Amino acid sequence: MFLKGKTALVTGSTSGIGLAYARALAAEGAAVMINGFGPAEAIEQERAALAAASGADAFHSPADMTRPDEIAAMVRECADKLGGPDILINNAGIQHVAPVEEFPLDKWDAIIAINLSAAFHAIRAAVPGMKMRKWGRIISTASAHSLVASPFKSAYVTAKHGLAGLTKTVALELAEHGITANCISPGYVWTPLVEKQIPDTMKARGLTREQVMHDVLLAGQPTRQFVTAEQVAALALHLCRDESAQITGSNLSMDGGWTAA
Ligand code: NAD
Repeated sequence: MFLKGKTALVTGSTSGIGLAYARALAAEGAAVMINGFGPAEAIEQERAALAAASGADAFHSPADMTRPDEIAAMVRECADKLGGPDILINNAGIQHVAPVEEFPLDKWDAIIAINLSAAFHAIRAAVPGMKMRKWGRIISTASAHSLVASPFKSAYVTAKHGLAGLTKTVALELAEHGITANCISPGYVWTPLVEKQIPDTMKARGLTREQVMHDVLLAGQPTRQFVTAEQVAALALHLCRDESAQITGSNLSMDGGWTAA
């Protein structure tokens, strides 16, 4: 349990990749604050399971990642209730698929807010404490779409490229403070986020569900397999180790070879 005594805050962790991060961190003894939406009972069950796994406290923050004030309050609440955060994982994200000339304005704003600006607000609030403790790990879930584009995903691709730039900047600023900042860039991971975009992609491209899965989603992923959330979480855990102190400013791909092409 190499994270005993450390605290982790994971945004967007009531589902998918974020939940896998929270479980992996708790299994190594970290006190975890999870965040995100969902049925209260399911969230409470998950919170209790995390506390049991870590032997430390676990809390849930319902902070909305479109709201800078709520993000700052979430980081303060984490510090007050659990200490830290020593590890900040910016993971909350949404997707919308539409041609650029039809892209709904509210979807553009929400994607930029949740997938990009929320990371800035959380980093801004968490860095002073990390500097004081001279140790920190900032990890952001970017995407293969932080490196390459796909049609119909203008807001998402823009936000993820921005997140990669933010990560590099923050890594340079914090390089002498014992704090690393990195992105993990998965290809397609089988989570509710991917499942939800299938109907829109079917509509945008006039394809069947099977065609979207095999000819669109996995077409660019040379292994022809989805990444698993647990594989992504294992890489995040590695970044939290002292052996990873010199990995900073990196954008680490886990995309079955997608961006090698
Ligand atoms: P998911 O839909 O399973 O989970 C998203 C999480 O974010 C949920 O906990 C949800 O409640 C939370 N969330 C959404 N809006 C929020 C808001 N306004 N405030 C607070 N929380 C909010 O998605 P996922 O596939 O696990 O995606 C997690 C991250 O991984 C995202 O940033 C996504 O862009 C990225 N990613 C996913 C894939 C993939 O193929 N699934 C690939 C690359 C990158």
